[in-house]
Amino acid sequence: MMKSETCFGKTSGKPLTQYYDEEEAQGAADYSKEFYGDDLSPYHCSKCDLWHLSPKSRQTPSQKCNRCTGGYGVEKESYRSKLEARLRADIIYDEQGISLRVYKCKYGFGWHLTKSQF
Ligand SMILES: [Zn+2]
Ligand SMILES: [Zn+2]
Repeated sequence: MMKSETCFGKTSGKPLTQYYDEEEAQGAADYSKEFYGDDLSPYHCSKCDLWHLSPKSRQTPSQKCNRCTGGYGVEKESYRSKLEARLRADIIYDEQGISLRVYKCKYGFGWHLTKSQF
């Protein structure tokens, strides 16, 4: 288990634990659930390109929008409501320091986040 040199918990200020893939992160999440009762979920960090764990209460349900793609040709995450998209944006800002804008999917598949202002 390695501590990140680039990513810190916004509230704790402590370096986040980094994992090399989703499987490893999920394994650690299962472990802490079993031994500490913590409900954690893996997420991919775009800052360090590795995986960290985040409390499940901070997770927002999303699905892939099959009509919209992001900057790298990946499918956009789609949120059911503006509020959930906003919450996700706040979490990303918290964890990664990236500020995102919420906008409505033009094909009617909920709400998306974007880095661009337009
Ligand atoms: Zn990171
Ligand atoms: Zn869309």
